[in-house]
Amino acid sequence: MRIARAVNNLIEAFERLPGIGPKSAARLTYYLLNVPQGELDKFADTLKLLKANTKICSECFNVAETNPCDICSDKNRDRGVVCVVEHPLDVLAIERGGGFAGVYHVLGGVIDPLHNIGPDEIRISQLIKRLDDQGVKEVILALNPNMEGEATCLFLKRLIPKEIKMTRLAHGLPVGADIEYADDMTLSRAMEGRREY
Ligand SMILES: [Zn+2]
Repeated sequence: MRIARAVNNLIEAFERLPGIGPKSAARLTYYLLNVPQGELDKFADTLKLLKANTKICSECFNVAETNPCDICSDKNRDRGVVCVVEHPLDVLAIERGGGFAGVYHVLGGVIDPLHNIGPDEIRISQLIKRLDDQGVKEVILALNPNMEGEATCLFLKRLIPKEIKMTRLAHGLPVGADIEYADDMTLSRAMEGRREY
């Protein structure tokens, strides 16, 4: 039996998403075939507007509706404390935990030589520039405790001026754990218990 081309195209599109295998891709596609056209149109519009209606904050590189984002433009947040994370999802996780009143810097990845990601492929130079411009007193490294996160922390340690306090958020986070998936309590403890790096 030949699968209809439109069906096959959507299955292939779903398969390109992270965490979706061929079976899930097929299940989602056949599910959508039963959804009324009006709902499908709304879904398609939401997809189309995803990038059109979001901006990347030019200060912290988080995804937002405005540039600068609401965190960077919040006068109550301490711009002297910068929490360095890998992805926008990590900002969400730390904000959910509450208790952090500084600002963020989203690197957009970590140094990963196996996948050809060097320091120039992530936003390290932008971070160093911010430290200068913004009079930063403390940098909190909130990178995942795995090999790539470790390598990135070491690289940053060499670049960041000695006068700036560097702390590492690791306490309570199991090795190999993803910040994105850590529960709120663990994350806020990890933030409180951060230690000098
Ligand atoms: Zn921002």
